[in-house]
Amino acid sequence: MTPPDLLIRGGTVVDGTGAPARRADVAVQGGRVVAVAADLPADAGAVVDATGLTVTPGFIDIHSHSDYTLLVDPRAVSAIAQGVTLEVLGNCGFGCAPIEPARAAASIYGFNGLVALSWTRVHEYLDVLQQRGPAVNTLTLVPNGQLRRAVIGVADRPATADELQRMNALLEQGLDEGAYGWSTGLEYPAERAAGEEELTALARTVARRGALYATHTRQRDEGAIEAIDEALRTARASGVRLQLSHLLPRRTADGEDVRAVQALERARDGGLDVRFDMHTRLYGTTFLSTLIPPWADAAGGAAALLRSSEGRERMRASPSIVASGGWDRIVLLDHPAFPQYSRRSIGELGRELGRDPFHIACDILEHDIEDLSRAMVIIKAYTPQQQAQVFAHPMCMPGSDATTLAPDGPLAGAVFHGAYSWAAWFFDFMVNERRLLSVEEAVYRLTGFPAATLGLRDRGVLAPGAAADIAVFDPACFRARATTFEPNQLATGMRHVVVNGALALRDGAPTGLRPGQVLRRGGS
Ligand SMILES: [Zn+2]
Repeated sequence: MTPPDLLIRGGTVVDGTGAPARRADVAVQGGRVVAVAADLPADAGAVVDATGLTVTPGFIDIHSHSDYTLLVDPRAVSAIAQGVTLEVLGNCGFGCAPIEPARAAASIYGFNGLVALSWTRVHEYLDVLQQRGPAVNTLTLVPNGQLRRAVIGVADRPATADELQRMNALLEQGLDEGAYGWSTGLEYPAERAAGEEELTALARTVARRGALYATHTRQRDEGAIEAIDEALRTARASGVRLQLSHLLPRRTADGEDVRAVQALERARDGGLDVRFDMHTRLYGTTFLSTLIPPWADAAGGAAALLRSSEGRERMRASPSIVASGGWDRIVLLDHPAFPQYSRRSIGELGRELGRDPFHIACDILEHDIEDLSRAMVIIKAYTPQQQAQVFAHPMCMPGSDATTLAPDGPLAGAVFHGAYSWAAWFFDFMVNERRLLSVEEAVYRLTGFPAATLGLRDRGVLAPGAAADIAVFDPACFRARATTFEPNQLATGMRHVVVNGALALRDGAPTGLRPGQVLRRGGS
């Protein structure tokens, strides 16, 4: 027998199924795990000493927005440093394919023009991504925002029968070209006008292929429970498997966090295949520009609206993610042109300056008119106790809801809360600090559970035959360093990370290898 390429020796294996930890070595050959057993022969191409460390499957980020940023910087340093080996792209109706390039940018997180949109179809994008060679594995969902942008543009009306047919054809094509499912972001301008009938028709296509439907629901403040009910109705009517994205409503004062979870429990008990994910922030993050209504173009453009008091009043009357819960909970992230406003609540600024907070927000947007993605805000939402409860729930898996970044290179200046911290924070908070999850259960939530949700049979588990995606770390030392206002700090405690059999992180440092594969559903 030829010796394995890689032997991870002397560690405690937590295999991703939730089964109890056990002492075992892990042998890797040709990118696959070939043995998990005690005292394997020490003869191997490379040996990693895991004495005193825990060996688990690589972590799966069920809710990533790295679709574009991995093209800009494929090293995925913030993710690899946390043991992440697979990112699920195409969430929240945002994503890179299929697209109509001229209309796509506003539904792509982190778009900056550094990489031109040179493709339209899913398989073309996946080829471009594979060529770029990310360090992590990736797979994608078909983003509904791009289906709508491509076929209808941003219009404040449901799709016509003809448009729906064209969207459906694009969806079908995307799924056939390797997408693992479909996502919506019904709170965003591109999709706000999509009706339940339109969504159910598209969900039927997803259901027929046994793929996953992930939804960022229509309302996450006022009316959040009704919006969750809409998603559950869509899933029931279409028969699709459902993933509720970042489930908790942003306003939880009336116990809506509890009611949201109960709605899903009832649906599950009634036989629906439903789970949910949650990001690890105590707040949501979004662009201040979501204040600009979807009809702005039809009304002469955002600039014209922002520059007249009448235009601003029309904007004020239009619902938006940032304004609908009041300005006290909206905090502006660091903005070079507004240092005096940065890290401050806009409501608080309003009182201090004696100016209507809505106009403060409009002033910032008017200044940024050439680059409306400049101003980012956080929307304060949860308490640590609410987070602890939701992450303890057996239907919940954590996700970054962020783009993978790197502390040097072209993304060094970018901020996306959660990127550097989500998996490490989840693990440390739930296992070490709150002691609500065992190491085995926390690992399952990061590996076997999301893998099963995606229908991946050979990832998310450490067993012979599985892809060799492996994390090696000390559970007591694995933690996040990123904070709200100093977010770009790598997590600590991850020692070695193997992606498809190759070491992407060794002794806590990136090796420079980028062994990730682009996974295509139904293909290889
Ligand atoms: Zn979302």
